[in-house]
Amino acid sequence: MAHIPTPRAAVTTLPPYVPGRPPTPRPGLTTYKLSSNENPYPPLPGVVEAATRAVAQMNRYPDMGCTGLYAALAERLGVATDHLAAGTGSVAVLYHLLQAYCEAGDEVVFAWRSFEAYPIAVTVTGATAVQVPLTHDGRHDLDAMAAAITDRTRIVVLCTPNNPTGPALTHAEVDAFCARVPAHVLVVVDEAYREFVRTADPVDGLALHRTHPRVVVLRTFAKAYGLAGFRVGYAVAAPEVAAAIRACALPFGVSSVAQAAAVASLDAEEALLERVDALVAERDRVYAGLRAQGWDVPEPQGNFVWLALGDRTGDFAAAAEGAGLVVRPFAGDGARVSIGEPEANSRLLEMCARWSG
Ligand SMILES: *Cc1c(COP(=O)(O)O)cnc(C)c1O
Repeated sequence: MAHIPTPRAAVTTLPPYVPGRPPTPRPGLTTYKLSSNENPYPPLPGVVEAATRAVAQMNRYPDMGCTGLYAALAERLGVATDHLAAGTGSVAVLYHLLQAYCEAGDEVVFAWRSFEAYPIAVTVTGATAVQVPLTHDGRHDLDAMAAAITDRTRIVVLCTPNNPTGPALTHAEVDAFCARVPAHVLVVVDEAYREFVRTADPVDGLALHRTHPRVVVLRTFAKAYGLAGFRVGYAVAAPEVAAAIRACALPFGVSSVAQAAAVASLDAEEALLERVDALVAERDRVYAGLRAQGWDVPEPQGNFVWLALGDRTGDFAAAAEGAGLVVRPFAGDGARVSIGEPEANSRLLEMCARWSG
């Protein structure tokens, strides 16, 4: 038999990334995908047109320097372009950052349960994932995370609001945390859901980055901006860090179509904010409805809610499927349900009212 070489040990132990499933079509029932925290709205005004113009250039490589996107972001965010590094989704940007800073023997601290891409992205570099349990109400335990930092720690990742549990950190607590983190550690603030936060003291990643240059802010066009299918996100970081991320990125990773759509999305802010407000109103309706039914739900600040169902998670996902809703189960732990169309959200509430596990 031919000998097939084996991949690195780290690769053979990678946890799988489980994508949210699409619904199976059901005759006579509209089905909804509430499993990937996507935006249920169609593209923002002007975005399809900009993307279509870029499609006509598909015989050419994209602008590797993302010039138009960096210029638009720099103006919008008030940062110089050398603080920016784009990638095919902010997940890719995180991969490049980890590749630039971590190797075997290094440690990366993050909360758990949190975004399922983190342990995969860390493990693939050969570094060790140090997972700090959330508090019982689904929040980061910042004291425990600070205590988990060692001489080998290269990066700490904060996810706010936390996917999949929902609560957001406050600006004051992250600011105080950053001040405690030793000088050899970068702090990643993953703000994938920042537009949905409605707390009194929301995290402002850019302000944190200005105060603490070792803060790396991750943002994405996938959620509020509704460009999940195009794969584009970015980091705001110190110029040295941004340069290291860009150095590790795939050449020509962000497609011409994605660059054009992202720039056009930044121009459609008014429509974006209206949609985000509507999604937030729906989220708050679902949260209030679940609480009125007696569900103990961590405070949702993203576009999703978390049902800590434990052993009943699989049964719940199956019951949701029966009602035409695809949720994202995490076996033995809980189900994350994205906020979707009002009809989908109402159906979730009806189904939860009937659920007795
Ligand atoms: C969705 C998400 C991202 C962004 O994903 P991309 O589609 O790769 O931009 C990043 N972090 C968290 C916590 C997310 O949930």
